[in-house]
Amino acid sequence: MAVLVTGGAGYIGSHMVLTLLEAGHEVVVLDNLSNASQESLRRVELLAGKAPVFIKGDIRDRHCLDALFAEHSISDVLHFAGLKSVGESVAEPLRYYENNVAGSLTLCQAMAAAGVYRLVFSSSATVYGDGHPMPIHEGLPTGRPANPYGHSKLMVEDVLRDLAKADEHWSIALLRYFNPVGAHESGRIGEDPNGIPNNLVPFIAQVAVGRRDTLSVFGNDYPTPDGTGVRDYIHVMDLVDGHLAAMQVLTSQRGVSTWNLGTGRGYSVLEMIKAFETVSGQHVSYKVADRREGDVAECWADPTLARQELGWEAMRGLEEMLADTWRWQQANPQGYSD
Ligand code: NAD
Ligand code: UDP
Repeated sequence: MAVLVTGGAGYIGSHMVLTLLEAGHEVVVLDNLSNASQESLRRVELLAGKAPVFIKGDIRDRHCLDALFAEHSISDVLHFAGLKSVGESVAEPLRYYENNVAGSLTLCQAMAAAGVYRLVFSSSATVYGDGHPMPIHEGLPTGRPANPYGHSKLMVEDVLRDLAKADEHWSIALLRYFNPVGAHESGRIGEDPNGIPNNLVPFIAQVAVGRRDTLSVFGNDYPTPDGTGVRDYIHVMDLVDGHLAAMQVLTSQRGVSTWNLGTGRGYSVLEMIKAFETVSGQHVSYKVADRREGDVAECWADPTLARQELGWEAMRGLEEMLADTWRWQQANPQGYSD
C-alpha cells in the first residue's frame, strides 16, 4: 500500500514525502508543478536513498486521478495541493475556489470511487477568523476568513464534515496549521517562494542573504507587547510529524477530527527579526509600514488536543526553526533554481 501526497513537490509536501520515505512508506506524489519544481523531489530522493513515484497531474483531473488509483494501491491521501497566496486569492477568487475547492471535491469523488477513505487535509488557522481570545482551541467556532484563500479552506472543511456525516466509511483529519517555517536540517530542501515572498520568515531570510534590501514590518501599533503582529511559528519537520501521528490515529477512527498544529507560543515580528539576526549573524534591515489588510494582531494555538489525541507536540524551538531556514537560504540563495 502507498500513501498519496497531493502537492508533494511543494514546500510542506516535500518535507512530508521525505519523512514518509524514511518511515518506510511507499509514496506516490501528484503535483501539477504550478508552484513547485521537481528538483525538490530529486533532493528528497538523494536524502532518503529512495524515490517516490511522481505523477505530474492535477487534482481537478478526474481521469488522471482514476488512473492513479487504478494503478497504485493507495491507503491514505495527504492532501497538500492548493494555491496559497492570500493577495492572489483576492485578485483571482475564481481561480482559487476552482483549484482549492473544486479540486478537493474531485479528489474526494475519485477517492470514494476507488474505495479510499482516509484523508488528511491541510487546513489553516485562518478558518477561525478574527476576534477569539488567545490561545485558539478547536472548540471555538470558525469565523469568516478575511480572504478567498481562507474561505476556500473553510469551504473544504465544511464539505469534508458533510461527507463524513453522510458516509461512515470516511476517516478525515482537518489539520489547522499555524505558521509553518524552517527547513529540513540538511539545508537541501526548504521553502522556495515564487517572486516576492508574502510570508515573514522567507522575506527576512532573503534580506539576510542579500537578495532583498529591506523588510517592511506591517504595523507597529497593534495591541501586542511591542506593537507588531504575534504568530505561532512551527517548524515544518514538527508539522509533518503531526501528519504522521494523524495518519496513525485515523487507522482506528472514523468521522472527522480537527487538530491544531502549532506550538502554543507566539512571537512578534520584531522578536523574529532579532532572533534571525542572532542565528545568522547578519543585519536584517527593516522599516515600519502600514498594517496589511486582513491581518490580525495575534494568533497562537492551544495545542493541547493534538498532544492528548495524537500524542504529538512540536519539539523544535525558534532558534532551530530559524537556523534551519538560514542553512537552506545560504546554501540555496535562489531556491531550487541555484
Ligand atoms: P506550496 O505551494 O509549496 O505547495 C502546494 C503544492 O501543490 C505545489 O507543489 C503546487 O504545485 C501543487 N498544486 C497546486 N495546485 C494543484 C493542483 N490543482 N493539482 C496538483 N497540484 C497542485 O504550499 P505549501 O506551503 O507547501 O502548502 C501546502 C498546503 O498547506 C496548502 O494546501 C496550503 O494552503 C496549506 N497551508 C500552508 C501554510 C503555509 O504557511 N505554508 C499555512 C496553512 C496551510
Ligand atoms: N509580516 C510583516 N512583513 C512581511 C510579512 C509579514 O511584517 O513582509 C508580518 C505580518 O503582518 C504578520 C506576521 O508577519 O504579523 C506573519 O505574517 P505571515 O504572512 O508570515 O503569516 P500570516 O499572516 O499568514 O500569519
